[in-house]
Amino acid sequence: MITEYLSPPAAAARSSGLQTALWNVQQTAGRLGLAKDITRRIIEPAEQITTRIHPVTHDGRMLHAKVFLVRHNDALGPTKGGIRMTSTVSLNEITGLAMEMTWKTSLIGVPFGGGKSGIRYDPNRLKPSEKEVLIRGFIRGVRRHVGPEIYVPAPDMGTNEQDMGHIRDCISYSGAVSITTGCFVTGKPVILGGIPGRREATGYGVVSTIAAACERLDLNLSNLRVAVQGFGNVGSVTASLLSQHGATIVAVSDISGGISNPDGLNVPELIEHVQTSGNVKGFHGGTEIPLEEVLEADCDVLVPAATHSAITEENAGRIRSRIIAEGANAPMTPLADDILRQRSVFVIPDILCNAGGVFVSYLEYTQETQRDQMTLEEVQHRLNHRMKSTFEMVFSHAQKTHSTMRQAAMDIAVARVRDGIIARGLLP
Ligand code: NAD
Repeated sequence: MITEYLSPPAAAARSSGLQTALWNVQQTAGRLGLAKDITRRIIEPAEQITTRIHPVTHDGRMLHAKVFLVRHNDALGPTKGGIRMTSTVSLNEITGLAMEMTWKTSLIGVPFGGGKSGIRYDPNRLKPSEKEVLIRGFIRGVRRHVGPEIYVPAPDMGTNEQDMGHIRDCISYSGAVSITTGCFVTGKPVILGGIPGRREATGYGVVSTIAAACERLDLNLSNLRVAVQGFGNVGSVTASLLSQHGATIVAVSDISGGISNPDGLNVPELIEHVQTSGNVKGFHGGTEIPLEEVLEADCDVLVPAATHSAITEENAGRIRSRIIAEGANAPMTPLADDILRQRSVFVIPDILCNAGGVFVSYLEYTQETQRDQMTLEEVQHRLNHRMKSTFEMVFSHAQKTHSTMRQAAMDIAVARVRDGIIARGLLP
């Protein structure tokens, strides 16, 4: 396994999220001049679990799902990362995402490590009651790997606030208590100890970083023309907030297809359409386009907010935006990254751009641990401040070292993890 980790073939650097994560960390280790032992200590996941669950639905049907949980690195704190539920999720994908979480928590400066979990099942094939059974089955299956000091899950693709509520209930129910000591899961409904603004936090943070980039690049947020790939939690909140700031949302896609309107899509109406019909297809306020064309829309800012490897060396040359704000994790392959760097596209890297979710999860964690309650205003103020100050730190480092925003963000994040490992005395 480790040799595979230490030498990703250059050609493979264009495909999976794990390969992208490996490529990025190896480049960083080279720039930081890390010794082989410490590079290996930083790259290898602490724990990788694959298990199978077979929960039974209320009408007597057995569901079969493979589940994965990876704790990548806990040098800076308990591992943190969402639960992805898709029909294709794999151990490799979860390992790459857990590794990204290690850098993200480190960069945004919260005392967590990186983790992630996955349930291989198409959530669109489940009725709400069946999804609840699957989520409870998942938590039963991985229970001993979940806890405030071990791994604290949250929502990711295919899971949401309601699912986190069921996890919260499942854990306190198993201990026959109403509340738990410490925070076992974030992104819960507010009524169960969740925090106001968590659902919107990632999109809110994406917008904070776009605003910070506009200040640096001398652009006006309200004049921006924006295209958004993926219209789930992150994509829809980002589009909604940007349009509230006066930006024009010219194209949007989800798994059902793309929709465009050069004069601007009416985002509240589009959200309502998605809530009633399930996806963007059929929206009357724009023209239907193939979903991959959204990435190539004529715009100032492109927000990939769907899945990994959407931008490859094949389509990178056709991207027309000046800024790419990575709402999704690893939406761009290393070869695409290189092409865009040569074309001077300003990329706000995922570990910075979409870190708002984990930052507010940290606020939820501290709130629950201290039995405190924060208001939406406090949460948004702290989130905006942290996103902007982290953007500035990365921007200055990039300027000083003549590197890209991704290289600067990775250098800071990986160096902090290294320092944590050294401070703990975990090296020979
Ligand atoms: P979600 O499940 O709410 O939404 C995903 C959206 O992407 C859906 O609209 C889906 O139809 C669309 N989609 C899937 N494949 C597509 C394709 N090929 N082309 C166009 N659209 C496609 O998920 P989410 O929580 O919004 O997460 C989106 C991305 O953001 C993921 O990469 C996730 O890891 C990342 N992220 C999410 C959070 C969070 O707090 N939810 C935090 C950090 C990063």
